[in-house]
Amino acid sequence: MRLQVEIDAHSGFCGGVIRAITRAEDFLSAHPDRRLYSVGAIVHNEAELERLSSRGLRTVSCADLSDIPGCREDVTLLIRAHGEPPSTYRRAREAGFEVVDCTCPVVLRLQERIRQAYARLQGSGGQIVLFGKVGHAEVLGLVGQVDGDVLVVENVRMLEEALGRGAVSADGPLEIFSQTTKSPGEYEEICRILRAYNPSLTVHHTICSQVASRHAQLSDFAASHDVVVFVSGQESSNGKVLFDLCRAHNPRTSRCGSPDEIRPEWFRDGDRVGVCGATSTPKWLLEAVAQKILQIN
Ligand code: SF4
Repeated sequence: MRLQVEIDAHSGFCGGVIRAITRAEDFLSAHPDRRLYSVGAIVHNEAELERLSSRGLRTVSCADLSDIPGCREDVTLLIRAHGEPPSTYRRAREAGFEVVDCTCPVVLRLQERIRQAYARLQGSGGQIVLFGKVGHAEVLGLVGQVDGDVLVVENVRMLEEALGRGAVSADGPLEIFSQTTKSPGEYEEICRILRAYNPSLTVHHTICSQVASRHAQLSDFAASHDVVVFVSGQESSNGKVLFDLCRAHNPRTSRCGSPDEIRPEWFRDGDRVGVCGATSTPKWLLEAVAQKILQIN
């Protein structure tokens, strides 16, 4: 089969993930005598996690901090780009761990803005809505800034259901924020519905600019190829959003997590194949997938 393969130049890790992984690798090189535990997966990509694990990075959940074996003094905790709620820092401190904080600066600013909005709304009966994936690490970190006093809606259906049961104030002060990796188009729709319900709504534009620009670029990339292979981990929230976006612009879009998952039946002779991925997909994995596609005959 003759196939042309192009890797999307804009795909690959976002700045926040590159920063966290670089700091983890630098730490491991500089401190071979210490153990480095990431609180939660440093990136939602199984292949990259395996690579980092072979370099010595371990993963632990916040709930399991007290189960880390051996001496506290030998262990450093890494807070990943998604950020954590204040309770995680408290627990780490109480347990005596040193912490390397790799929270993305964009997420740190968002945490700060939510705290400020909450302080502003106290006493006026105001409310905060967060557009984000329920249970996602970044969302848990954001919700933790205001002791959980925020309504999280994941999509239009959830918002309409919340409006239907009167969970949102129709006339009091109301402010909305978005998780950094959500879809800009969906956020616009959520804000439109909410503003129709409560005209005093204040919208905070908190989708990461790297994610927002990737939406526009990826739409063009998907539409300009015969077939698209989208590479991302199963757990990646941004991967799910961007895969759906590619599929909307090119119905011949398939997802894979590694070169082994590529299926020859996705391709036809002469296809121009576009390979792209999420903000959590490493470049080396996109290249490995492209190489595998070129070997199909
Ligand atoms: S998507 Fe943006 S905000 Fe989120 S970690 Fe990456 S750079 Fe930071």
